[in-house]
Formats: sequence, C-alpha cells, structure tokens
Amino acid sequence: MAECVFCRIVAREIPAQVVYEDEEILGFRDINPQAPVHVLLIPKEHVASLDEAEERHAPLLGRLLLAARSVAAQLGLDDGYRVVNNCGARAGQSVFHIHFHLLGGRDFAWPPG
Ligand code: 5GP
Ligand code: ZN
Repeated sequence: MAECVFCRIVAREIPAQVVYEDEEILGFRDINPQAPVHVLLIPKEHVASLDEAEERHAPLLGRLLLAARSVAAQLGLDDGYRVVNNCGARAGQSVFHIHFHLLGGRDFAWPPG
C-alpha cells in the first residue's frame, strides 16, 4: 500500500534501523521507543491488523513471534521481554499494518495501561 508507512519502510522508501530481516518479515527499531529495546516486527505483506488476518496467515503470525524471540536473544534480553500487539484504535493501534512490539531492557508493570 503506497500510503502505508510500514509498507514504505519495507520498500526502503523511508529509512529505518533494521535489526532483523527474512523473506517475509522485517524487524526495525521503533522511532519513539518506550523501552531501552523497542523493535517492531512486521510482515512484508500488508495486513491491516490482527482483525484483518486470515487463516492463511497463521504460519506467518507464528513466525513473527519466533522472530521477536530471535531478536530478543540477539539483543541480549536474557531476563525477559514483552511482546505486544495493539489491535484497533481503542487498544492504541496507530499504524494499520499489523506489527508486534518487542520491548525489553526495563521492568514492566501488569496490567498494562
Ligand atoms: P501502534 O501504536 O500502532 O501499536 O504502534 C505503531 C508504532 O510505530 C509506534 O510505536 C510508533 O512510534 C511507530 N512508528 C510510527 N511511524 C514510524 C516510522 O516512520 N518509523 C518507525 N521506525 N517507527 C514508527
Ligand atoms: Zn502496509
């Protein structure tokens, strides 16, 4: 999608600090980090949100989580990390290209805000 900021990052039209890439997934640093480590894992395919994902995306969704685990290990998050998906405006989703936040390097509260 030409107007989607994350599709533009995938197309390298907008620069990003890429920390992970494979055939179908890109991982890059969040521009407004909420923790010492804050990486976004996205599919290269445009899927607007978890609500828009289809049954055929099930393996991709699993691989996004495994990619988050790989990046956590790569960046030394040995004592824990959080993986978050905000689905929909009320949950705080602001970019409508599905992504998982990988957050680490500090303590996290529960329940989240
Ligand atoms: P959401 O609020 O949709 O769950 O998360 C969107 C995230 O994307 C936010 O944490 C925001 O800081 C990040 N973001 C928005 N635009 C850009 C951008 O152009 N580059 C990068 N690296 N992150 C972005
Ligand atoms: Zn997109």
